[in-house]
Amino acid sequence: MTRLRPAVIVHYHELSLKRGNRPLFLRHLARNLLAATRDVGPLTLRQLSGRILLDLAGNPRPEAVRDRVARVVGVASCALAYRVPSTLDSMKAVIGELIQGREFPSFRISARRAFKTYPMSSVEINAALGAFVLERVRTRVDLTHPAFTIHVEVLPAETFVYLDRTMGPGGLPVGASGTVAALLSGGIDSPVAAWRMMKRGCRVLFVHFHSVPYLPPTSQEKARALVEQLTAWQYRSELLFVPFGEIQREVVLGVPPPARVVVYRRLMVRIAEGLARRRGALALATGESLGQVASQTLQNIARIDEVAGMPILRPLIGMDKLEIIEQARRLGTFEISIEPDADCCTLFVPPHPATRMSAEDVRDVEAKLDIEALVARGCEEATAEIFE
Ligand code: ATP
Ligand code: MG
Repeated sequence: MTRLRPAVIVHYHELSLKRGNRPLFLRHLARNLLAATRDVGPLTLRQLSGRILLDLAGNPRPEAVRDRVARVVGVASCALAYRVPSTLDSMKAVIGELIQGREFPSFRISARRAFKTYPMSSVEINAALGAFVLERVRTRVDLTHPAFTIHVEVLPAETFVYLDRTMGPGGLPVGASGTVAALLSGGIDSPVAAWRMMKRGCRVLFVHFHSVPYLPPTSQEKARALVEQLTAWQYRSELLFVPFGEIQREVVLGVPPPARVVVYRRLMVRIAEGLARRRGALALATGESLGQVASQTLQNIARIDEVAGMPILRPLIGMDKLEIIEQARRLGTFEISIEPDADCCTLFVPPHPATRMSAEDVRDVEAKLDIEALVARGCEEATAEIFE
């Protein structure tokens, strides 16, 4: 019996690798793969042509490594593979072991040669290994809808044989696109928005505004739980808490009720931007989706953008609530988000806030406030927590 030598083989989309980006992409992907698997080691990482190999020699938990890798952003797919020398006999030996005791109505061999000087073509490898399987199992070949696929990847130094491929999230590795500051409420949308930014290669800095002691601290607890969940994709997160209650009290003194939500939101953006700049973030991100609530009309979005000195990214802008919920379920944030809480934007706000504020209206109401002082105060009073 041959000793199986397990490895996880990681594929990424070549398409996302435009010329100069390649080394950067691979450097971040490699670092993230190591971070994602640090507690299920040991393993060694090697770059091969067009793929990454995680050598699992001596690793007691190959499946756990594979499952971790399957959610690293930038991974197109991964598989728990077995390594053999690139001879037909070695391939047969390992396939013999992998199919032992299995029954499957149909199958195919899917051979790929990563270098074209190998003496056999992939069609010839498919035929030879297919015949080998047919001698041992009562089954048939089905090239279009096989019940079972045996993948064989022939590289110069060795060959990888594997059965099941797990799809990864795709996208770009976290870190490759720089840092954004995500405004994280306790709601359903903003965690999904933050994840979408991670998927485009951003490291996310989280900023949460709360109204303790005017409201109970439940929103902070939810923000913590959400960040903990999302840290599975970026391995280390910083969450900033901004006490917003006193600032809101000042707003209430001068601003009529219908205008408060927009004024709150403009203050949030200014404060988040201040915090973002100090930490090198280049953009903000929110969970806004067009028309979903009163503050998310085009007019009010324009009022919010007016005060920002950096881009506000809104990755959910064109998504329906149902799509967002589905995504939140897949991320495991939905259950956290639907816990009841009191969001700070509801504090001192009427049931029907203004949906179409003009630039002049907002300017007039803000003239009664010392905006600069409020923003400085928000930035100074922010506290940080680290998750890893
Ligand atoms: P969510 O489901 O993300 O709470 P929402 O549908 O409740 O969004 P709004 O309340 O208008 O919509 O909030 C829009 C966006 O503003 C949120 O997605 C989030 O990015 C930001 N935001 C709202 N409240 C807070 C808060 N307390 N702290 C940080 N960001 C917030
Ligand atoms: Mg909300």
